Amino acid sequence: MNKARDSFDYDVAVLGGGSAGYAAAHTAAAAGLHTVVIESGSALGGLCILRGCMPSKALLYAAEVLHLARAGKTWGLKIPKAGFDFKAVMARKKVMVEEFAKYRRQELRAGKFKLLRARARFLDGHTVALSEAQGRLPKFLTAKHFVISTGSVAAPSPLPDLDEAGFLTSDEALALPRLPKSLIILGGGPVGVELAQFFCRFDVEVTLIQRGKHLLRDCDADAALALEKAFRREGIRLFTSTELLGASSNGRVKRINFQFRNQIKRVAAAEILLALGRIPATSGLCLEEIGVKTEYGRIVTNASMQTSVPHIYAAGDCTGPHQIVHIGVEQGEIAARNIVHPAKKQSIDYRLLCSVVFTDPQVAVAGLTERRAAELAIPHLTASHLFNDHGKAMIMGTKVGFVKLLAAPRTGEILGGACVGPSGGELIHEIIAAMRRRMTVGELAAMPHYHPTLAEIWTYPAAELAEQIKAG
Ligand SMILES: Cc1cc2nc3c(=O)[nH]c(=O)nc-3n(C[C@H](O)[C@H](O)[C@H](O)COP(=O)(O)OP(=O)(O)OC[C@H]3O[C@@H](n4cnc5c(N)ncnc54)[C@H](O)[C@@H]3O)c2cc1C
Repeated sequence: MNKARDSFDYDVAVLGGGSAGYAAAHTAAAAGLHTVVIESGSALGGLCILRGCMPSKALLYAAEVLHLARAGKTWGLKIPKAGFDFKAVMARKKVMVEEFAKYRRQELRAGKFKLLRARARFLDGHTVALSEAQGRLPKFLTAKHFVISTGSVAAPSPLPDLDEAGFLTSDEALALPRLPKSLIILGGGPVGVELAQFFCRFDVEVTLIQRGKHLLRDCDADAALALEKAFRREGIRLFTSTELLGASSNGRVKRINFQFRNQIKRVAAAEILLALGRIPATSGLCLEEIGVKTEYGRIVTNASMQTSVPHIYAAGDCTGPHQIVHIGVEQGEIAARNIVHPAKKQSIDYRLLCSVVFTDPQVAVAGLTERRAAELAIPHLTASHLFNDHGKAMIMGTKVGFVKLLAAPRTGEILGGACVGPSGGELIHEIIAAMRRRMTVGELAAMPHYHPTLAEIWTYPAAELAEQIKAG
């Protein structure tokens, strides 16, 4: 690698200093490679810290506390009026984000790699031009290897009318100075549903319009139905199987027209939130010119995170296929390790893929879903258990949700799990641990579980499946 330093400025240049880029740079630099991170954002921290996971979860937690306080009667509590000071809620979130960002800034600045604040664009396979630089920087630099981790941006609006009417993205929704009276949310993916519940619990009239048959299109229908039931119970107006037709604004009120059950519907609200997903932030990198293959903007990689140009790797939202932060981190680490040890290539493995939606009930999935098993024709058995029939959940007043396990019919190996319910995001980790060790449902059922805990609910579907398999 020292030889590389003779002909290139750096062994590795990482484009983008978010979660994936930081992981790649940290790993490469720790292995002794001369590494640079180029970051174009006006603030350091990346999406997760600044405008994604952390601010959204800080706000959702406040919403949950408010909701529990308002439901105090359930447990015989008298909380005369649980209200809120929205400015204070947002101020706390801002402090939290600043703390996380400060830590990340320290990590980026104290790292064994160099940090340059500029926008990068490829000039050729080993050279990037630097523009919009903060401070005096060279106009370009060269590197032997690259990791592209430029993240994603909110998907553009699907209708020109919508651009004219104006809308919020999650970036603005997470930083509103005051609450709108009413809100139309377009899109029922993780960001749309989390924000729908947040705003609803802060007394905003929320209408959620989803194109697909159910919310959370990648989940099994039973999980989506449980969430839909909870949303309707909380007062969110929910329309699924819709087609967006138009949008307008008269300056005070914004309107959306859409097709629903063969009728044209019209809804109005003070604001519209566009939550139709995010697209890879790859335009302007000149990838086509240097032969890096993309599909709809997404950088195509093999399982080693290598692009179609072998010395250029990609990690995080810009390559996907899952826009999940710990996956981006793992991809970044794998890319860097493969640069360090080209003869011992590591591969990303999505067998333990996990996703969590932080609504109430939380929707957490690990490994195989029934939907995916059907698509791939993977034989499996399933068993579920409802939370409203489970001791600890009853104590907590939980009315909706369930856990579900998928197992291989012959061996009983756990292939996947879903938890729609309280602390689903925590509970799913038991299944990830079990799957990592390739445990069977019989082994999970036999594992000690403290009583009364939420976690012991897993033993019911596990025991049911173990019985089924034993009975042949
Ligand atoms: C509202 C919301 C909530 C979310 N909640 C969760 C959650 O709970 N859990 C979860 O796992 N995921 C969540 N996500 C997704 C998660 O935030 C992303 O998957 C993750 O942050 C992506 O990391 P990244 O490093 O790929 O991209 P980023 O963190 O976006 O980093 C990319 C960086 O590249 C820089 N950049 C872009 N172009 C250039 C260029 N040409 N030159 C130099 N620098 C450039 C950008 O400034 C940016 O800092 C959420 C996302 C949103 C929007």
